[in-house]
Amino acid sequence: MQYLSLASPGKRYSLKEVLFKGLAPDGSLFMPEEIPALDPDFIRNIQDYSLPQLAFEVLKPFVTPDVPEQTLQQIVNDTFSFEIPLKPVEEAIQVLEVYHGPTQAFKDVGARFLSRLLGHFNRGESRKLLVLTATSGDTGGAVAHGFHRVPGIEVVVLYPNGKVSPYQEYQITSPGDNVHAIAVNGSFDDCQRLVKDAFKDDALRQLVYMTSANSINMGRLLPQMVYYFHALAQYRRAGFNDAPVVTVPSGNFGNITAAMLAHKMGLPVKRFVAATNVNDVVPRFLASGAYAPHATIATIANAMDVGDPSNFPRMYALYHNQLSELKAEVTSFAVSDEEIKQTIKAVFEKVGYLMDPHTAAAYVGIKKELRQGENGFFVSTAHPFKFGEVIDEVLPGGLAKAGYEIDFPKLDRTQLKAMAPEYAELRKRIKKMA
Ligand SMILES: *Cc1c(COP(=O)(O)O)cnc(C)c1O
Repeated sequence: MQYLSLASPGKRYSLKEVLFKGLAPDGSLFMPEEIPALDPDFIRNIQDYSLPQLAFEVLKPFVTPDVPEQTLQQIVNDTFSFEIPLKPVEEAIQVLEVYHGPTQAFKDVGARFLSRLLGHFNRGESRKLLVLTATSGDTGGAVAHGFHRVPGIEVVVLYPNGKVSPYQEYQITSPGDNVHAIAVNGSFDDCQRLVKDAFKDDALRQLVYMTSANSINMGRLLPQMVYYFHALAQYRRAGFNDAPVVTVPSGNFGNITAAMLAHKMGLPVKRFVAATNVNDVVPRFLASGAYAPHATIATIANAMDVGDPSNFPRMYALYHNQLSELKAEVTSFAVSDEEIKQTIKAVFEKVGYLMDPHTAAAYVGIKKELRQGENGFFVSTAHPFKFGEVIDEVLPGGLAKAGYEIDFPKLDRTQLKAMAPEYAELRKRIKKMA
């Protein structure tokens, strides 16, 4: 499989180039040059496949022969080493819990797969590969854990000092070894600027290869297709024979784009529902046809606080940039913080299922969208524990009642090597890693 850039589709790129560059040289997104159709027998017999077997079949056309089959099998065994269960919530509605990885969010899937692929491609290179990531919280933990002890790779995670939750900070700082967590005395925007400065530093690039692990990287998108097939396998085993309505809580729209790619490969889906918080660029686009990005609005579902979703061009390209085509298969709703809170409380009190704020937005989406006689599932992207402050507010004691109390050691913050938001300082630290 080769890849092209959305803005200038004439040129082709190898998987290695795509992974190492992240963004295409013209600044637009990479896409596979074609979307292969899976064997209909595979879909028909999907309930007979385990998660790693499915992963191999789905990813093979995108990854081999650049990566040998045996290596791909190893990488997917390693990536998908935790369960991704589909569970009934109420009649006709199920939930796909993609949060049982090491940092309790679905981003573990992409981070683990990308890290192992990069490790494979950087083997035998004399220069180290440096993965630079700025995080406002969730991505940093997944990247820190996903890349921990991957040979030949050094990871730098920059996060705004004092502006992530104690649990997130614990997840970012606890791996150590090749994972360098840096608390920046500044904002998330400062962290992003430092990363950009490093990418522009040609002299530094003579010493190390540099890439980013943010959600536009194809290496994070591709493995996210897998759990939609795994959901179908479980849906069939549960006795459902129809095509499900699939609801995804969306911020940068990477997760739902992966589901749409899976659908184009042959995954039966009746309709997609994209649930957002009040950062509602896509719902408004579907309603009006005008794409109007806006400054980010802070919400309690903060991993979806995105005012200009980076995967939107990919998603739209899958529908040939035709609004009518998109609307025929996709609906989108914005859900307010108030509605999210009420939903967390009401669903827990009614059926005993506890949701984090992102998942609750998806639940609202499927409740609104599911028609008489239809079935479907919504995606749970994070463990409720990760958003304990919200749960405590709407359902005091709810985490304990649901049996979700996780202990984590208190960080000794005097040990942090916090840094002024100055590039010269970051550069000095990177040079020591080269
Ligand atoms: C990142 C994230 C999302 C949004 O996923 P996108 O792929 O950016 O749409 C939703 N929920 C949680 C918990 C996340 O961490």
